[in-house]
Amino acid sequence: MDRVPVQASILQANQEEATKNRTLFDREGSVAINLMSSPGSGKTSILESTIRLLKGSYRTGVIEGDLQTSLDAERIRALGVPSHQINTGTVCHLDARMVARALEEFPIAGLDLLFIENIGNLICPSSYYLGEHWRVIVCSVVEGADKPKKYPVMFNKADVVILNKMDLIEQSGADLQTLSRNVREVSPRARIFALSCRTGEGMGGWLEWLREVTGRRLSATSAKAGA
Ligand code: MG
Ligand code: ZN
Repeated sequence: MDRVPVQASILQANQEEATKNRTLFDREGSVAINLMSSPGSGKTSILESTIRLLKGSYRTGVIEGDLQTSLDAERIRALGVPSHQINTGTVCHLDARMVARALEEFPIAGLDLLFIENIGNLICPSSYYLGEHWRVIVCSVVEGADKPKKYPVMFNKADVVILNKMDLIEQSGADLQTLSRNVREVSPRARIFALSCRTGEGMGGWLEWLREVTGRRLSATSAKAGA
């Protein structure tokens, strides 16, 4: 009987903590992106490719969430980008307090972009606002075209949906048309980018979106055009 009130108060406390995180992100001028997906859809690989392509243009940092290990944070650090690992033990999502604690040890001063890679899970991460400006969902094309319809809550709040592993579309026989239609149905306002972080195909649209949301232009040409 009291499960619902308890849950509501947990989410209320989380909301308050998240608002503090958001204030910090805004004060530091860091655009915070909450990156979510099921396990294995390529969140960390997308971050690696994105970091390689943005290097020198943006100061980027990454907070990694995993139940165990610091393998993902090590992959990011190997690229010369600061990264902090949160280990949640048995908890299957990040919450705002975990991020607040991470921010105490991981200064974001001077970062243009802060990625927060959530636990691989398409269910509860969507209930926990972390203070992020944007929500990005990664869905690999080989996961099955029905995924968005099975996990609508997650997709519903997405600002961006990345369809990853486009390089595998032929071998896997994945149905991109149905997948795209299903994403559109449950994420009516999301930008959709179909890409392969392995081959680089389609990365341009995603990078352009990142430039848009950070309010900057990378190339000298576009800087001139804006002057
Ligand atoms: Mg990962
Ligand atoms: Zn959870």
